[in-house]
Amino acid sequence: MAAAVQKKYVSQFAMMGTVISLTLFEPNQPAVEEVYDYLQQMDQIFSVNRPDSELSAINQQAGQQSVQVSPACFQLIQDALAYSQQYADSFNVLIGPLVKLWRIGFGGHEVPAAEAIQQSLQQMDLAQVTLNAEQHSVYLRQPGMQLDLGAIAKGYFADRIVDQLRQAGIANAIVNLGGNVKLLGENPLATDARWQVGIQAPAAPRGYPVLQVTMPARTVVTSGIFERYFKIGEQRYHHILDPQTGYPVENQVDQVSIITEQSELAEVLATVTYFQGPEQGVRLIESLPNTEAIFIDKQQQITVTSGLKPRREGVFEIE
Ligand code: ADP
Ligand code: MG
Repeated sequence: MAAAVQKKYVSQFAMMGTVISLTLFEPNQPAVEEVYDYLQQMDQIFSVNRPDSELSAINQQAGQQSVQVSPACFQLIQDALAYSQQYADSFNVLIGPLVKLWRIGFGGHEVPAAEAIQQSLQQMDLAQVTLNAEQHSVYLRQPGMQLDLGAIAKGYFADRIVDQLRQAGIANAIVNLGGNVKLLGENPLATDARWQVGIQAPAAPRGYPVLQVTMPARTVVTSGIFERYFKIGEQRYHHILDPQTGYPVENQVDQVSIITEQSELAEVLATVTYFQGPEQGVRLIESLPNTEAIFIDKQQQITVTSGLKPRREGVFEIE
């Protein structure tokens, strides 16, 4: 009976180059504004398009001096560096020079000169970053080095937002940061209180999910090669760059979705398992608690981890 009168309250804002949406199940305008203000604040700290952001300051001062930053900025960089060390083959937060060189999704439409790629690779040495935890300062010791938090920042924000909502006394919510989804509590609109999340097929038109996953409150993060790319003939150059070669990763994977509890970790795992592909990727994900993955390859073949139980055609469930 309760489900029949249950309403939802959706707020949307265009920010950080994407659409952010917050769904609550009770009216709470102050909580919505708190989320909006938080994201504004994060944009001021982390935007690479703002020359006065903390992240831009660190990058501008590369090879010159250390920069003191806010606790949030220090924390996220520290996390991203640790993940870069852990997954050095694939995830590298110092990918900035390569991203700037290729400009994929930002007007880039040709393959950079091999020499320029080699030069960028020289500027991605994790050992050349100095963090000072007491002063909250960051120093990129070589000129030209640049942090790029594009593959992790939204996950960090999603985790903080859900914490904020919980602290504001909100029991249930959906936070959607341009495709990075994090759920809080239970689904008041479903009789079984479980959430349904659709996984969009990379090749299918928007709004037609290939898969539905029924789950408890988790986060769902997808990394794929159809969001930002350019093509030369049949060759697709996409935005997931290999920190070892300097070129977009070439493999059979179209996209990977990670379902787990922490969104920041999900972001990292989505990138890492994109590189690894379904075989190695499934092994990594099976070794982690409460974590699942869905791989879709170029032939639209789907590979899932064992915690995703098939229920009906195109429907999986996490118990
Ligand atoms: P999105 O969610 O925007 O589709 P992803 O989470 O897949 O993006 O991350 C892609 C972004 O991460 C790129 O646009 C770039 O800024 C950065 N990036 C690209 N390759 C790597 C890499 N190997 N390691 C870390 N960050 C990367
Ligand atoms: Mg990601």
